Amino acid sequence: MDVLKERIRRDGVIKADDILKVDGFLNHQVDTVLIDAIGLEFARRFAACPINKVLTIEASGIAIGYAVGQHLGVPVVFAKKAQSINLEGDVYTTRVESFTHKRIFDVIISKKYVSPNDHVLIVDDFLANGCALDGLIAMTEEAGATIEGVGIVIEKGFQQGGRSLRERNYRLESLAIIESMDPVSGQIVYR
Ligand code: 5GP
Repeated sequence: MDVLKERIRRDGVIKADDILKVDGFLNHQVDTVLIDAIGLEFARRFAACPINKVLTIEASGIAIGYAVGQHLGVPVVFAKKAQSINLEGDVYTTRVESFTHKRIFDVIISKKYVSPNDHVLIVDDFLANGCALDGLIAMTEEAGATIEGVGIVIEKGFQQGGRSLRERNYRLESLAIIESMDPVSGQIVYR
């Protein structure tokens, strides 16, 4: 998606060998026009799939999930990062190691909102080692729902998450795949 790739080049900040900040348009301030275009692009790529629900994880996934859901005409469910293990009610739960915070979160989804009849598109902002997605996949599969595919805005292709998902035969659509990025020169190379 060229408009996204150009925006990453223009406004992305390479913080370290493996961290890209996109706070100016995706992760803190959100460019609503760009997010809408991202939603439309995912809806176009998955148009042939019988998706009835979009699933993401708070917080940065919510705006993306909303945009895709709106273009597909389906609801978005976001997994919540639970504060404690004393979880109330009937929930699916998993543990996710946060790539950016280096912490382990308990993540939950209410059983009310994902069930065996659902055909789910999972979306998120970044794909690095795949921990967040593995958690979402595990809860969706535990619910007995069908995973129609995974949509990622920025995949860091030099980390293992994308390869692992493709090897397991999930349909993965990433709008920008970064092959390499250099914090010193600021150069970004796309796949
Ligand atoms: P993973 O679980 O695939 O290792 O990491 C994905 C999650 O970590 C995403 O939900 C995203 O919030 C965060 N993340 C991973 N890499 C980056 C990065 O380079 N920049 C930012 N801003 N977030 C990242």
